[in-house]
Amino acid sequence: MKRNTLILILFSAIFILFTGCSEQEGNKPLSYDPPGSTDTRDKKISLQDRRTFAFESAGVFFSNDFAGGRLNAIEQKGEQHYSILIQPENAPINNSAWYAFKVWAAKPQRVQVELRYEDGRHRYIPKLSRDGETWQPLTPEKFSVDTTRYTALLQLDISRDTLWVAAQELITTAQFNRWIDGLAGKPYVSTREIGRSHMGRPIRLMEISEAPDARKHVLIISRQHPPEVTGSLAMMAFVEKIAGESALAARFRKQFAVKVIPLMNPDGVDEGHWRHNARGVDLNRDWYNFNQPETRAARDEFLKLKDNPENRVYFGIDFHSTQEDIFYTLAKDLKTVPEGLTDRWLNKIRAHFPDYALNEDPGGLGSPVSKNWFYREFQAASVTYESGDESDRQALRELAAYAAEAMMETLLESISADNSQ
Ligand SMILES: [Zn+2]
Repeated sequence: MKRNTLILILFSAIFILFTGCSEQEGNKPLSYDPPGSTDTRDKKISLQDRRTFAFESAGVFFSNDFAGGRLNAIEQKGEQHYSILIQPENAPINNSAWYAFKVWAAKPQRVQVELRYEDGRHRYIPKLSRDGETWQPLTPEKFSVDTTRYTALLQLDISRDTLWVAAQELITTAQFNRWIDGLAGKPYVSTREIGRSHMGRPIRLMEISEAPDARKHVLIISRQHPPEVTGSLAMMAFVEKIAGESALAARFRKQFAVKVIPLMNPDGVDEGHWRHNARGVDLNRDWYNFNQPETRAARDEFLKLKDNPENRVYFGIDFHSTQEDIFYTLAKDLKTVPEGLTDRWLNKIRAHFPDYALNEDPGGLGSPVSKNWFYREFQAASVTYESGDESDRQALRELAAYAAEAMMETLLESISADNSQ
């Protein structure tokens, strides 16, 4: 073996060892923790210039001026050829290269749009929408990725009607509020503000219960990482089941109380960030130091449960997205109270979806992520529930909906076993 090859292998091994992981454990390509991500003190970020970029002579217009938008600069390269620069909020940063823009034209035409990235690489298949609400992936023949330059080239058919192009469906503060307020119409769902983000956006909590003095609790959070839209889709399907009309859900709500923080990082989501909050920090590395207002608001709310020693948290679940569906669970030697809840829950899911190869990755408590905090504080069974970036949306909703039923069944069985002892 040549000396250069050997050095390359050695460096690759060191790189893999030190760059860690997608959410916490495991080594996923393109999705690692950059140096300094667990230093959660304030960092400087660059906000985008929000505006319409007009190419008057071509009659073509681009805009990043909407919640979730990300387009840092654009130049015209040819008659119907544009090159867009996408930058992160700050760097170094995990490669979750988010982009979102609107485009329209005076006359119908096909344009080529190149996406170039600073401090990252193309990751997400483009999603298109005509109304900002319903989305379809761009068909494969209309886009290609240059795997040496890490750019993407999109063929877009544009006209006077606005075309929305984004890394994932846009689910920003407005969509979350609509969803929360819709569920809050039910008598057993309430909502309140538990704090504010750096930029002053509300952090909203939902509480779901029909038990007047519930002492049994489940804690749910989502969207610490702005581009992780499929995690939010899964969280919504999961919570809708718990707040649903089934007999199981009604029985569950008479025994348990559920606290949900659907949107942990509203600044990151609405500013079109790749990963961080408005102080350039990965919130899911701040569950030890709690330097950031968003994580502090969640911690302070959840810790109120400790005011009454009878309160017990059974599950803590944090919804995310990564390259594939995966459940990051606790190492099997970590004793939860009660024991074995996660195994019983996941086994129900395996039995219900026999053709679904459920991917579980148990891990230790080394990383300052929410999952480990739920365990440290409450000895709760805790899970980082990850949906794949490009997982089929209907399938991931069905999986999450059943996962909620399986969790409710598992918990009701576990308390009836307790009572019969
Ligand atoms: Zn994440």
